[in-house]
Amino acid sequence: MMHRFLRKLGGLVARPDSLRILIYHRVLDSVDYLRPDEPDRARFNWQMKLLHDYFTPLGLAEALQLREEGRLPRNAVCVTFDDGYADNYKNALPILERWDIPASVFVSTGFLNGGRMWNDSVIESVRNSRLERWDLSRIGLGHCSLAGRADRYQLVLAILQAIKHWEPAKRAEAVSYIESLSEELPTDLMMTDSQVQEMARRGVTIGAHTVNHPILKAVDLDTATHEIRESREYLARLIGKEIPFFAYPNGRRGHDYEESHTRLIRDLGFSAALSTDKGVVVSNSDDMQLPRFTPWDKNPLKFSLRLLANR
Ligand SMILES: [Zn+2]
Repeated sequence: MMHRFLRKLGGLVARPDSLRILIYHRVLDSVDYLRPDEPDRARFNWQMKLLHDYFTPLGLAEALQLREEGRLPRNAVCVTFDDGYADNYKNALPILERWDIPASVFVSTGFLNGGRMWNDSVIESVRNSRLERWDLSRIGLGHCSLAGRADRYQLVLAILQAIKHWEPAKRAEAVSYIESLSEELPTDLMMTDSQVQEMARRGVTIGAHTVNHPILKAVDLDTATHEIRESREYLARLIGKEIPFFAYPNGRRGHDYEESHTRLIRDLGFSAALSTDKGVVVSNSDDMQLPRFTPWDKNPLKFSLRLLANR
């Protein structure tokens, strides 16, 4: 019954000139109490099956080409991943292939081959610590309990919130202190060079996402230029192909990047760039800051309804 309902609804609300671009980061092995919003394989699988059954999944290049020609199919959708997590290769790729869904992965090249993003260092430190209490006075959080899972989850949120907007060097110092309170941390969270190459070989579009994932607005324009260029050149060398697309780190217009950066992206010759602002791509959307859509719903019907209704 849901099938007929969704097909009918899709026909009613979908505009032929609109494109939905979904943004993912990870596809976990299984549900993780410290990352409750990240889908695991099971959730990602039904989401991709829904896209396969009720939408028209397209590669980014193809979708943008069809949009330019005014020939986007109904319910056109693109799947994208940011950052370059190894589970994109290990968990997402087989599911994408099962349902014949093209995808794009935007890679921060500085973390490939064993690196870790600062937020992951915090999460994994909290997970792996054998201590029951941490003294986090130095980051303004006082003494914090790690007794139970709920405490640990709240602690992750509190730390991320507290240091998110710190200047990178100061934040790195806080993170290395946090790491010192924990046991061994994973070095296989992000893809390796050869996993990126394998993704590209199997048809995944590889896009640039800077080297170190700085918030562009927080660094000077020379640094931003270098970060963007370096990541693109690294990836182009790695996969032997042009890198036409870019995704802004953190990605909120005005907050994380501004007009000087969209100009920069255009000047560097990218053909499109993606933000994390919520929305559907329509005919007059700016190619240098295409909005996306975060598919956080844990329930298939809600997920489909929001996908269909979002604009
Ligand atoms: Zn990112």
